[in-house]
Order: sequence, then structure tokens, then C-alpha cells
Amino acid sequence: MTQSDTLSHRGKLRFYGWGYADEHLSADEEARVRAAAGRFGGDLVEVTAPRESDFDLRAPRIAPPAALASIVSATPYDRLVHSLGKSFADVARMFLRDVPQPPDLVAFPRTESDVAAVLDWASGANIAVIPFGGGSSVCGGVEPDVGDSYAGTVSLDLQYLNGVVEIDRASRAARIQAGALGPELEAQLKPHGLTLRHFPQSLQFSTLGGWIATRSGGHYASLYTHIDDFVESTRTVTPAGILETRRLPGSGAGPSPDRMIVGSEGSLGVIVEAWMRLQDRPTFQASASIAFPSMAKAVAAVRALSQSGLFPTNCRLLDPVEARNNGVGDGVSAILVLGFESADHPLDAWMHRALELVADHGGLYDVEAARRSLAPREGAAEHRQGAAGQWRNAFIRMPYYRDLMVALGMITDTFETAITWDRFETLYEGVRERTAAVIREVCGHEAGVACRFTHVYPDGPAPYFSYSAVGTRTGDLADSLAKWREIKAATNEIVVALGGTITHHHAVGRDHRGGYERQSPPLFRAALAGAKAVLDPAGVLNPGVLIDPADRPIGVRGALG
Ligand SMILES: Cc1cc2nc3c(=O)[nH]c(=O)nc-3n(C[C@H](O)[C@H](O)[C@H](O)COP(=O)(O)OP(=O)(O)OC[C@H]3O[C@@H](n4cnc5c(N)ncnc54)[C@H](O)[C@@H]3O)c2cc1C
Repeated sequence: MTQSDTLSHRGKLRFYGWGYADEHLSADEEARVRAAAGRFGGDLVEVTAPRESDFDLRAPRIAPPAALASIVSATPYDRLVHSLGKSFADVARMFLRDVPQPPDLVAFPRTESDVAAVLDWASGANIAVIPFGGGSSVCGGVEPDVGDSYAGTVSLDLQYLNGVVEIDRASRAARIQAGALGPELEAQLKPHGLTLRHFPQSLQFSTLGGWIATRSGGHYASLYTHIDDFVESTRTVTPAGILETRRLPGSGAGPSPDRMIVGSEGSLGVIVEAWMRLQDRPTFQASASIAFPSMAKAVAAVRALSQSGLFPTNCRLLDPVEARNNGVGDGVSAILVLGFESADHPLDAWMHRALELVADHGGLYDVEAARRSLAPREGAAEHRQGAAGQWRNAFIRMPYYRDLMVALGMITDTFETAITWDRFETLYEGVRERTAAVIREVCGHEAGVACRFTHVYPDGPAPYFSYSAVGTRTGDLADSLAKWREIKAATNEIVVALGGTITHHHAVGRDHRGGYERQSPPLFRAALAGAKAVLDPAGVLNPGVLIDPADRPIGVRGALG
């Protein structure tokens, strides 16, 4: 990569999909993806992956002021990388070479003052600013589709603000810049024996600022789940000035300013750093895989676990379809991947009690494997074996498979929600039945809708649904995308109608706005709009995400617009 390609300091990304440009599927993985697509029968035409030279991007409509010229890029690569996120629709549109709304410019601030200067310029010149972390949004959060009322758009990439700048060992907290990718911040914490231990599936290509802005959910299945739990204080640059909150372990002083910033999705300000609560790196680990004869029994067991006070770090329930899809089930059994971790104490008592609970609900497990996983030395290795290890490897590699699935004309997507236990069964059955019916109607074939729990709370689980369907057999990805739109609009509606949240951890962005408007009280949204009018009076920050700026009806745009 040459300086003329980009102002980024990171490796070259696959601008149209997941991963770095030079990362490829192994032959084995490629064969498996093709076999998965092949299960639907018939031939599929594969569309060739796009190259930068395939795109004739609209010329930039704006130019930066001289003072910002050195941190602003208008190269095709930089504009393409910042044009879309990483949803199915984003990848499909890239394969269609259909990027009508690239950002006019991409700014790479080196300092907080640079961020403020970009916001000053944009506010004065009616330019929309889209804060950009890792760009892993799957709901249109980073897409500069803001309507016609702006002079232009700037994507604001925080990647140079990626340091762990201060560690408070006594309080076990660190001040971390918002643009740090997961692996970057973990590498800086590791020498201190510390970890944030917030591991979304997108860890490698998502940032602290993106997590805070979207209220992301990490790997922990209970207790420490949402990034919200780790935020001690935030520092945010807004067009109206700096909003910095006080570091406190807890506070009952009125509505929390951090709670307003967390989840604001770039619409209120640019988070530049945060004090984050850390953890000691775990030294004790234990895991077990438990099979249940039915989903109902498995759900009862997980509910008991979630209300037991044991707080397993891993409590992923795979329904029979999900277990089979991941090669760890027979299509009838539900599989629970259970894990505990601690930096302080052996886990025998926790695991013992958890296994008693699952056994009460008909759960079957390998007693010897569970026992071996408790042994300190063997434990780490055991952790990566069996169904737990197999599922974990598939989980990390899964995003890499999707580009080829899209190229083959497959629609493969996920949606997630959360619901209280009393309504779970109705939601689970309803979502699976209705989604399968929509796929049957739109794509003309049967499709299995799989479900797993990503997180469990004492009062309910966060189910995560996934499906694959044939979008096109002829390489007509426009048809595939149109079918995805129908399915996506329907699943948004189904989840909200059945009482779930429109998103448990994938944010609102542009694609979930309709559902967000249905689940959030109108008076609250009016109050949020009031906050936006104060912090962003010119209405330039990520217009169309969450709410519209005052007097500028942007509405639902992006992939569903
Ligand atoms: C394969 C895959 C797996 C995923 N797995 C998970 C998962 O396990 N858990 C989960 O929660 N999500 C997951 N996601 C969704 C996504 O990774 C999260 O929403 C993540 O938090 C986004 O972080 P990012 O740095 O990539 O933000 P971006 O995608 O760059 O931005 C997301 C939103 O936040 C805003 N934003 C970004 N940085 C800032 C900032 N510094 N200040 C203000 N606003 C900002 C943007 O404007 C945008 O609205 C996944 C996505 C993919 C593609």
C-alpha cells in the first residue's frame, strides 16, 4: 500500500468484505462454504469479487480547508472502505459495484484537536460527519447516505487515536483512546496482566469507540456482557464543546451522562477516549458441553443457570438447527456450551453446581472431560476441544465465509433480540415459523432458521437467529439484494411484534430505525432530539441514525431506504 492509496496506517483491508486484502480462505474452508451453498441443490453462478478499478466514484463535492488538508484523504481506496459497513446488504452492494454515496472525503485525525477542527469546519459548512471506528457496523451505521440537504459528507476515522494512555492499577481501570481496535488495546493491556475482556465476534475489526457508541455485546454470556458495564467515564468531542464525565465506580447523582453517550451511535458527538473498568487475566478456566434431548429442556436448564447466581462466562445454547449447522449436533439435540473463568479461584464448586442444575433438566455431558477442564494446565487446552472448541473456531472464522456465500448468490444473515423468559417460547417459535414462511414466499424454498443464545440474563435470554437462502442462481445479485430487503423488513417486524427488542447488540443505525421508533417512547425520542439540538446544533453528526436532526427529515435510508 502506498501513501497515495491511503492515509491509513493499518494493513490494507478487503474493502468489499471481511478481513485484510491478503487473507484468504483455506482450500478446506472454501470447499466447506461451497458445500453449504450446494446443499440447496442446483447450480449457482459465482460473481467475481470487485476490484477498486471497477468503481467510478462520484467526484468529491467538497474540499478541506488548508489547515486540515494533511489529514484528509480523497483516494478511491479510502472512500470505498468508508462507504459501507459489513452487513449482507453492504457486501452485496459492493459485489454489485453499486456505491452511489461514498463519503466525499475521509478525515484521519491525529489528535483530539483535529477532531474538534473537523467538527467546526463541518458545522459551519453544512457537511455531514460520520464517525468511523472499525466500520464493522451491520445496520448502516457508517453509511454516508444522508439525503440531499448537506453540501457533502466526511467519514471521520479514529484509527490514529488508538493508545492505552493511562493505567490506574489500584482501581483496575485504564484510559483508552476510542480508535483502538480490540487486538490493539488488548496487546497494550497484556503486559500489565490486565484485559478489557470484551470480545465481540468482530473484535479484530472493531474499536472501543464503536463498541461504546453501539452498546456492543461481548463474549461473556452473563454478568459482564455489554460494554456499558465496563465504562467508567467518557470524553466526547461535540460541535458544542467537550463533554467529559467524572470517573466514579458508581453514582446515584441524577440521570447518568455516560448513559446518554453510550449507544449514541455517533449522533451526539465523537467519543475520543474512555476510562474503562478492566479485569485480571483469567488463570482458571473450565468448560463443558451438554446435550439436551429437546430445546424446551435446554431452555429450562439455561434459565435455572441464569438465575442461580453462578454467572457462567460462557452459556451459549445452540438450538438443534444451530448445533447441526456447526457440526456439533445431530439436528435433534440442543447443545449448551458452558464455561467459567476466574483470575482468583478454582472453579470446581461452580462447575459442580452448574452440572447438577443441567442434569436436573436432562442434560448429558462427559463427566471426565468436564473434570479434566478444571485442571489448571490441561484446562486451557481442554477449553479449546470438543464442542466448545469446535464452535469457537467456527465462530471466529464465520465472517470470513460470507463474502463467498454472497458471490455465489446466497443470502446469509443474522438478527438478534432479547426477550423475558415468560415470552421466550412464543418468540422462538414465532420467529422461526414466520421467518421460514417469509423465506418460502420470497425465495421459493424451505430454509432452516437457527437460533443460539449469545447472552443470558436472570430475566431473559438474548436469542440470535440465522438463516441461509438462495438469493439468485444466475448471478443476479440485484435480485438477491431485493429478496434480502423483503426478508430483513419482515424479520425486523416479526421480532418487534413478538415483543423483542429490535436489537440486543447490533445497534440501530439506519436499518433498524423503524423498529427503534416502535420500541422507544415518543417522548424519550423528543428528549433525545433536544439533546442533539444542544450538542450538535447544525445537525451534522451522523444524520439519519437513531433520530433526525431538528427540521431535517432524513428518515430511513441506507440498505432499506
Ligand atoms: C462479523 C461481525 C460480527 C459482529 N459481532 C458482534 C458482536 O459479537 N457483538 C456486537 O455487539 N456487535 C457485533 N457486530 C457489530 C459491530 O461489530 C459492532 O456494532 C461494533 O461495536 C462496531 O464497532 P466499530 O468500531 O466497527 O464501529 P463502526 O462500525 O465504525 O461504527 C458503528 C457506529 O458507531 C459510531 N461510532 C464509531 N466510533 C465512534 C466514536 N469514536 N464516537 C462516536 N461514534 C462512533 C459510528 O458512527 C456508527 O454509527 C458484528 C459485526 C460483524 C460484521
